[in-house]
Amino acid sequence: MNLMVFGAPGAGKGTQAKFLVEKYGIPQISTGDMLRAAIVEKTAMGMEAKRYMDAGELVPDSTIIGIIEERLAKEDCQKGFILDGFPRTLAQAEALDELLEKQGKKIDKVLSFEVPDELIIKRIAGRRVCPKCGASYHVEFNSPKAEGICDACGSELIIRKDDNKETVKNRLSNYHSQTAPLVDFYKNKGVFAQIDGSQKLEKVTQDMFAKL
Ligand code: ADP
Ligand code: AMP
Repeated sequence: MNLMVFGAPGAGKGTQAKFLVEKYGIPQISTGDMLRAAIVEKTAMGMEAKRYMDAGELVPDSTIIGIIEERLAKEDCQKGFILDGFPRTLAQAEALDELLEKQGKKIDKVLSFEVPDELIIKRIAGRRVCPKCGASYHVEFNSPKAEGICDACGSELIIRKDDNKETVKNRLSNYHSQTAPLVDFYKNKGVFAQIDGSQKLEKVTQDMFAKL
């Protein structure tokens, strides 16, 4: 099954993708996580991407399409995958179509988490992430068992550098102008599923599985 989790930054894509990984045993492919790993490794691509990420801007399409092409070719993606944070522009969506077509594949379902901007801002303000395994927590809505420690791998949680008030505004504005138009692109393909992402985490998970 080839899935996509879709929505604004902070809508809960990564949180819900972990449940899909658990249930279907297919990998979560988060372009954000891949870029952050490249920054830690200090690769040339990572250093270039960092400038955009710190400012809350989208990384250029050519860079992103390149890393996705490489990742989707790996063996673990052959039985399915969950795209998280990709595509974010029409050019990326079209490149993805082309890439999948060559392999005789398609996206089976786009799971779109709809959350109003005011709530997105609260979610991002309280987000804590695990730099090792990518798990996402919230100080109020989804706190780890031990404060500041990842339930999944025991690492110390951090606040993402781009999870600050100013950058969030820019990320939301870029989402509405560049990413939201993809809703119609996937609606036209008949694979788009809308989920009320503002509900409690467990209810969102339940609604998501009901769409599959
Ligand atoms: P995204 O991957 O879309 O950027 P995350 O999955 O990291 O978003 O979630 C953003 C923040 O909101 C995190 O702090 C997460 O713990 C929290 N969160 C996710 N889903 C819910 C929910 N249904 N209710 C409350 N908080 C949530
Ligand atoms: P995320 O972890 O999905 O919130 O992504 C963090 C940041 O990485 C974004 O604000 C962008 O700067 C960059 N990024 C991640 N995925 C993409 C993408 N598909 N296209 C462009 N930039 C991306």
